Amino acid sequence: MSTVLSTHGLKAFYGDAQALFGIDFHIDRGELVAIIGANGAGKSTFLKALTGLVKVPAEMVRYQGEPIGGRAPGEIVRRGVALVPEGRRLFPSLSVEENLLMGAAAGRRGPWHLARLYKLFPILLEKRRQPATSLSGGQQQMVAIGRALMSNPDLLLCDELSLGLAPVVIREIYRAMPEITGEGMTVVIVEQDVDMARQVSRRLYCFQEGRVALTGASGGLTREQIARAYFGT
Ligand code: ATP
Repeated sequence: MSTVLSTHGLKAFYGDAQALFGIDFHIDRGELVAIIGANGAGKSTFLKALTGLVKVPAEMVRYQGEPIGGRAPGEIVRRGVALVPEGRRLFPSLSVEENLLMGAAAGRRGPWHLARLYKLFPILLEKRRQPATSLSGGQQQMVAIGRALMSNPDLLLCDELSLGLAPVVIREIYRAMPEITGEGMTVVIVEQDVDMARQVSRRLYCFQEGRVALTGASGGLTREQIARAYFGT
């Protein structure tokens, strides 16, 4: 298995305030790895450090074997890393299809195109001409995932896909993941829903106060172990 991305003693700061305290992380091609942790544990900061939105020393983040810490976000996207941001951040004045095409414009050529995406999320075909923000929360999340896939990344980073969505909708979204990882795409999900994170991921990291409190194969960790790491008890 080849490592797609790794971090080495990753530290991150907001001014003088330290948010990450030496995170060691790795993900192999085709893996789906979940990051869980309570509010403020550093999950979003970690994704921001991977995508150049929070500046860190180059060697602390390696992607496809090269140091990319602190590079410009646009350059990281062009290298094949796509982020589905918390809160989705769709273009409100654009239709569903226009939002999807914005992803294609930012990225590279590859297996993901409109027709395939509409097969993955058929409701988006039906609603393709509607303003993206007129859709339900779950459908908007599908657009956000679709927009990221349209850039044909090697590595897809998803921040809190399930936030504010009903369980049935969350399951519908996660049903798409095996097809996404099926062709070797590598996926990191940050997830508040611990049970869902365990179910869909191969491995899991639990962050606590900017550190990795627990990591291992998702099926091998007990709920008690996870609860202890999550709450720091
Ligand atoms: P949540 O689930 O609430 O998004 P999180 O695990 O993603 O939490 P982060 O948002 O990464 O956690 O926050 C980690 C730490 O960094 C927290 O102490 C938070 O207060 C701090 N922090 C986050 N963003 C900023 C910012 N823009 N400026 C200063 N401190 C910040």
